[in-house]
Amino acid sequence: MRLGRIAGALSAVALAATMTACGSSQKTVDAQASVAGGAAGALIGVTMPTKSSERWIHDGDNVRSQLEKLGYKVDLQYAENDIPTQANQIENQITKGAKLLIVASIDGTALTSQLQQAADNKIPVIAYDRLIRNSPNVDYYATFDNFKVGVQQATSLLKGLGVEDGKKGPFNVELFGGSPDDNNATFFWNGAMSVLKPKIDDGTLTVRSGQTDFKTAAILRWDPATAQRRMEDILTKTYTGDTRVDGVLSPYDGLSIGILSALKSNGYGTGGQAYPVVTGQDAELASVKSIIAGEQYSTIFKDTRKLAETTVKMADAVLKGGKPEVNNTEDYDNGDKVVPSYLLDPVIVDKDNYKDVIVGGGYYTEDQLN
Ligand code: BGC
Repeated sequence: MRLGRIAGALSAVALAATMTACGSSQKTVDAQASVAGGAAGALIGVTMPTKSSERWIHDGDNVRSQLEKLGYKVDLQYAENDIPTQANQIENQITKGAKLLIVASIDGTALTSQLQQAADNKIPVIAYDRLIRNSPNVDYYATFDNFKVGVQQATSLLKGLGVEDGKKGPFNVELFGGSPDDNNATFFWNGAMSVLKPKIDDGTLTVRSGQTDFKTAAILRWDPATAQRRMEDILTKTYTGDTRVDGVLSPYDGLSIGILSALKSNGYGTGGQAYPVVTGQDAELASVKSIIAGEQYSTIFKDTRKLAETTVKMADAVLKGGKPEVNNTEDYDNGDKVVPSYLLDPVIVDKDNYKDVIVGGGYYTEDQLN
């Protein structure tokens, strides 16, 4: 590998020399030399939001190992959901000489100056899973179809309630949104509401708390404890006497766990009182176990191995001076430009199909789930 790196560096020098001899502009020579010299064994900065949620640990591990397989060096950092920490980590990676940055942001609007610094140093940036907003300096975006995730969460909620089988309700549901500073959260919400709003309008679903706007339903930093408190508050204020909540739209497994705890302390899940239908996202181990145990109803599986693979392919193509494959150049406007994106397909997982999708797909073993 060391030899490969030296060979790469030598061929970059040779290329630069040939091109200078041919009279190409110095600018082209510099750009190509820096790409070619930079690709072999280059340092790549990877920043992830937090280790408090399992999915980001899988993401980080997968991105790192796949980059290392291609011979890159990787600086992988987690910021425990602290925005200034993440900003510092990115600045440090630039100082350390990173040739490309892969960023899963905490607050998608808070990295404008770091990204400017990256651009000033000709360091390309790939937004990982979450779009970085308000900056022209985001080159590519790798993610899942986030609107579809919301559609699937809502569809699964309706399936769990029996609406898909013709049950008319009315069913009492409550709605939770993700973190308002995460661009994905509004995509999930809008996707879900595209399915739920018509059912609220025709009386199949009732949101008894009256809290039907994203701002009120949103949970800052995706914090499970905040979701638990909000659910407790709603149960105490709205669900008195015999009124029961039948379903909860939850956009993330961590929130679902908080929501289920609040429900449990209010008597659900015990003494013949079934849990309401609670959705989720990420197929985190605890939630898949909860689904098997008949507590959480469903989750949305987003294969982090595939997201890592897509992102690593993008990074490799960019560093080698090529154009990465994208499949969406319309939907992800970051407030400054539409960022060329690659969207992967999410999958609904519930008790009926977890064996096929999760165990069969090798994401968890049967042993891990027991
Ligand atoms: C991700 C979700 C995740 C959430 C909380 C979102 O940006 O797309 O997969 O559940 O963040 O970590």
